[in-house]
Amino acid sequence: MWPLPPPDLDARTVYTTCISKARPAKVKQRLQELEGDIATAADEYEKAAASAALHNLQHLRKLPDGNDPNKNDNKKLTGCYTSRMARKGSVGRDIYNQLLKGARRGRCPLCGHGFANTLDHQLPKEKYPLLSVTPANLVPACMACNHAKGEASPASAEEQTLHPYFDDVTDHVWLAARLTVPPEPGVTFFVTPHPDWPTPLTERVQRHFDMFKLAKLYAAQVGTELAALNDYLRGKPYRAIVAELQDRAASYGNRNSWQAALYRALAATPWYVKSGYLNEWDD
Ligand SMILES: [Zn+2]
Repeated sequence: MWPLPPPDLDARTVYTTCISKARPAKVKQRLQELEGDIATAADEYEKAAASAALHNLQHLRKLPDGNDPNKNDNKKLTGCYTSRMARKGSVGRDIYNQLLKGARRGRCPLCGHGFANTLDHQLPKEKYPLLSVTPANLVPACMACNHAKGEASPASAEEQTLHPYFDDVTDHVWLAARLTVPPEPGVTFFVTPHPDWPTPLTERVQRHFDMFKLAKLYAAQVGTELAALNDYLRGKPYRAIVAELQDRAASYGNRNSWQAALYRALAATPWYVKSGYLNEWDD
């Protein structure tokens, strides 16, 4: 997971921009009445996210069907996102684009691999309509990550996936890879939590890793990466190969990228350095 600076956007201003062209007048009036609730919810959201407590926002969930005193409030609010922010040409589309641009080098911060071409609601809008257009709740993401998360929302501290705007675990190398040797050579990626991490954080990182299927995603990249390496290493002495692999591992600024984890594992596996690199590596 790759941290991002939180968007420099005011939640109330974003909301009022999105509803500025709402029609008919009755709908607009109702959306205007909700402005205070939206601002309060955004405030609560930011405080909860900063203390890894998004599971404590259950009171912001939508009203159960049939008990909504103002009919269709939930739908009106989720529509603020789909029709008034995400839709091309809509009044909020510039804000949508600005949020997308927050992705570092266009990469999805949830997996660090895919192209960030959508916005993911950290707390899903279908369950939390008041947070439909809250900037801090909108994270640039790739399609696969957005889809993998779906409508999932945390019921406990441990169930929270990492939030790129509020969580930063880059001070510790938590992603590792392991090589398996013949008869079935392969690479497995896994989480190595810091022993001093509090239990909820350890569980959250693991949950994030599982939720976005990162083991599978990263393993699928290995074949192509190693095929190119095979020719390059052929015939080089043992020590030179180790040095090359270590250099490559160190060349990644993000120590928790799958490439850095892969090269660390290769350098530390004598079988690979001796002759394993000559193997065919399936995806
Ligand atoms: Zn992704």
